[in-house]
Amino acid sequence: MARHLITSAIPYINGIKHLGNLVGSQLPADLFARYQRARGNEVMFICATDEHGTPAELAAAKAGKPVAEYCAEMHEVQAKIAEGFRLSFDHFGRSSSPQNHRLTQHFAVKLAEAGLIREVSETQMYSKADGRFLPDRYIEGTCPNCGFESARGDQCDNCTKQLDPVDLINPHSTISGSTDLEMRETKHLFLRQSAMKDRLDAWIDSKSDWPVLTTSIAKKWLHDGDGLQDRGITRDLSWGVPAQFEGAPWSGMEGKVFYVWFDAPIEYIAATEEWTEKTGGDWERWWRTDKGADDVTYTQFMGKDNVPFHTLSFPATILGSGEPWKLVDYIKSFNYLNYDGGQFSTSRGRGVFMDQALELLPADYWRWWLLSHAPESADAEFTWENFQVSANKDLADVLGNFVSRITKFTRSKFGEAIPEGGSWGEQEAALIEDLTTRIRAYETHMEEKDIRKAAMELRGIWVAGNEYLQASAPWSVFKTDPDQAAAIARLALNLIPIYAVLSAPFIPDAAKIMLEAMGDEDRGWPGDVKTALEALPAGHAFSTPEVLFRKITDEEREEWQERFAGTRD
Ligand SMILES: [Zn+2]
Repeated sequence: MARHLITSAIPYINGIKHLGNLVGSQLPADLFARYQRARGNEVMFICATDEHGTPAELAAAKAGKPVAEYCAEMHEVQAKIAEGFRLSFDHFGRSSSPQNHRLTQHFAVKLAEAGLIREVSETQMYSKADGRFLPDRYIEGTCPNCGFESARGDQCDNCTKQLDPVDLINPHSTISGSTDLEMRETKHLFLRQSAMKDRLDAWIDSKSDWPVLTTSIAKKWLHDGDGLQDRGITRDLSWGVPAQFEGAPWSGMEGKVFYVWFDAPIEYIAATEEWTEKTGGDWERWWRTDKGADDVTYTQFMGKDNVPFHTLSFPATILGSGEPWKLVDYIKSFNYLNYDGGQFSTSRGRGVFMDQALELLPADYWRWWLLSHAPESADAEFTWENFQVSANKDLADVLGNFVSRITKFTRSKFGEAIPEGGSWGEQEAALIEDLTTRIRAYETHMEEKDIRKAAMELRGIWVAGNEYLQASAPWSVFKTDPDQAAAIARLALNLIPIYAVLSAPFIPDAAKIMLEAMGDEDRGWPGDVKTALEALPAGHAFSTPEVLFRKITDEEREEWQERFAGTRD
């Protein structure tokens, strides 16, 4: 039994994510986790909410709540939506957990001991009224470029110019509104990534099987310009993992926390430790190569914007610690999913968000479309036309229709049990051969995490059954040779649990309905196809399921297209 550690990039706590976020990390990670479990392997599937940083503080202030309370509430909201999409995390953690605080501080100490952390003095905007240094986003003023009055310290939202807080005209604190600001000297900790450059470079070079998207981004950061730069890992915030703590090998970092990008990936480990607290399981055998993790295969899933942190910063933390932590074996990264001729926009409410999607249709419809159109080799685009066609054809016409036709036919002619009589001939032998080839190809695509190819092969497997039914036409054969019609029905009914098991990673709810209808809930992965097609013997009772997938009407499509064009309130 192989052991698979699988992590999805952790979504930021601030707000509900759109479908582009979902298909860029959590959903493909879930597909892979479900597949590996179905193959009988041991899986640890981890995700969490990323809760620290300025945006969380600002969102909490906007909601009029203490930031800890805001994060706890939003974590529950995101956990519920994840459940709605059937994301099968073994644990959905929180980067604000005590486990992550402890581990983040532990890594910082180890890195400092290895000489990989240096202190840097900078000048930064200080607000006397607030008694604190202000991060860029806590400063607003007039844009020197366009005159916009609410430009932020890091960027003007009106003309998009990148800014420095000192560029702003009449800058003020967004906390108190105070204009009594001055530049003061302050200290920050930097991770000496530049000292790790050659080691990281050699490590990336050894990953010849990784997607080009992943390695090309890593290489760009390693070599473009002056090469890999040291990175500030502290910020002037109160919400986060304190950078000054008992046992810290530095001083003078009071009132600062670790930068969210330092502690967020460490939460993969901490979340597994949280899982231990919940279940009593052993997290170290997943993460410590000296404690059993040396036979673990670790796969990460993420959007391309997260690649630099996972190919460079986090490995620099792991390798730099000098301790036997498990390093990632494979990084599957994704391009962006665009929405109907433009981009998804959280701020403008453009596109479909996860909570809204589940109000329209059950999870399987979205899972199927998103995974079968995953933005692997290039950006992909969601259009309502394409979504409608894909759901109606693949799910309703091909898979749903197959299940419905054969169960209804059998019920009407033989009753609700697998019929006996007749025997299989050349047509059945050809189908078994075709299915065997296809199922083995499907397994290869899933192992290689080629998600679109896997979806296409699965669809081909559904089509093969439909074509068999169409060509063998048991409804006609029944008139002259009921025994032969029974043999055809027996095969087709036996295909349903096979389809269910193969399809479950993509469409788990429909798969469950199919298995329940066939009274075969514990069915395993099909090895030898002929054997699997004989698993349910004559006389085995089944029930005829309700419509598996309904069709999306043109009226619905038009209504939804208009509804999600922009401005969510
Ligand atoms: Zn401007």
